[in-house]
Amino acid sequence: MKSFTLGRVIPLVDVTAFHPTENHFRTADVTAVALPVQDTRLRPLRDLRISVTDRCNFRCIYCMPKEVFGKDYPFLPRAELLTFEEIERIARVFVGLGVEKIRLTGGEPLLRKDLEYLVELLAKLRTPGGDDIDLSLTTNGSLLSRKAQSLRDAGLKRVTVSLDSVDEAVFQQMNGVGFSAASVLEGIGSALRVGFAPVKVNMVVKRGVNDTQILPMARHFRGTGIEVRFIEFMDVGTSNGWNLESVVPSSEVIRTIESTFPLVPAGRDRPSDTSVRFRYADGQGEIGVISSVSRPFCGNCTRLRLSANGQLFTCLFASHGEDIRAPLRSGDSDDALRRRVADLWLHRTDRYSEQRAENTIAPNQPKVEMSFIGG
Ligand code: SAM
Ligand code: SF4
Ligand code: SF4
Repeated sequence: MKSFTLGRVIPLVDVTAFHPTENHFRTADVTAVALPVQDTRLRPLRDLRISVTDRCNFRCIYCMPKEVFGKDYPFLPRAELLTFEEIERIARVFVGLGVEKIRLTGGEPLLRKDLEYLVELLAKLRTPGGDDIDLSLTTNGSLLSRKAQSLRDAGLKRVTVSLDSVDEAVFQQMNGVGFSAASVLEGIGSALRVGFAPVKVNMVVKRGVNDTQILPMARHFRGTGIEVRFIEFMDVGTSNGWNLESVVPSSEVIRTIESTFPLVPAGRDRPSDTSVRFRYADGQGEIGVISSVSRPFCGNCTRLRLSANGQLFTCLFASHGEDIRAPLRSGDSDDALRRRVADLWLHRTDRYSEQRAENTIAPNQPKVEMSFIGG
């Protein structure tokens, strides 16, 4: 059977090649698929976020509060982690299905030893049309001064650094371990010096904690070429004590900045981008807002996440992942892996943030932690 939607068509099921342990009932309808593969709401699979570790040297209050992620926390044992070769193979399968953007994340990705080698492997991937993959990394910046050059040499093109305040007291309280903002700023400086472009900064805004820092952050990075993206505090996982009152809606962020620096709306680069951009009216650069809570963007969500131990999650707020490490280690061919991924995406229905806005989420729904699934 041939698929009829736009784009390149690839056969996905060779019935004679079915693995005996494979679930025929779930995959039987996956006979061919047009690229990019689309889910039940016609959302294409375009972005892959790869978590390379669930560990972190920070304990940000909104992500890994130290009261929960203490020394007895059951982090993944090393043997559970995908090797770099396994990650590259899975990524290659995804690129074959239409993925164009890959982001390395975690936990703190720069804690993973020899990450440069993975970057080197992934930088060689090409889309079916022969284009480069848009490969990026999100980091807390603590090790960036040391690693910026080697990452750049390995083929990484752009980085996003998380920084929740330029005020030392506020930042050190927020990251939970007293790490200095000055060191992260040094890391950002190194990223610029070695030629990453663009360098972006992520700031999670939490009411009563760093909402006074919106304007200082905007002021600090204005005119530097660095875009600050203000992110609404989200109810990821079950550890961060989230409540709606702690969320500063993006509309308020915009109003706060506009009171001093007039802004002009600049929209989204691509419909699937999480960030909506605004330009400074005086030409001093741009900011972005990520309004996951106040203006959910599930309708254009093209992201899938791969955890460090090889589970696939089609939503940041998922309760369960689909294991791809076991079939990979038990000898599945690339074609068989491709069928599994396509099957997962074709059946995808996720729209958590829309449901949150509609108030239709079941209470106490289990959710994986962001540090595990990858931000
Ligand atoms: N450790 C790296 C870092 O902090 O950049 C990468 C992983 S972190 C989970 C990825 C991004 O998720 C960061 O920019 C972080 O600020 C954001 N994040 C974590 N918890 C969040 C939450 N509860 N709400 C909104 N953003 C969050
Ligand atoms: Fe670590 Fe990043 Fe989570 Fe902060 S946001 S605790 S730096 S993983
Ligand atoms: Fe995508 Fe899930 Fe976030 Fe909606 S809630 S935008 S489906 S990750």
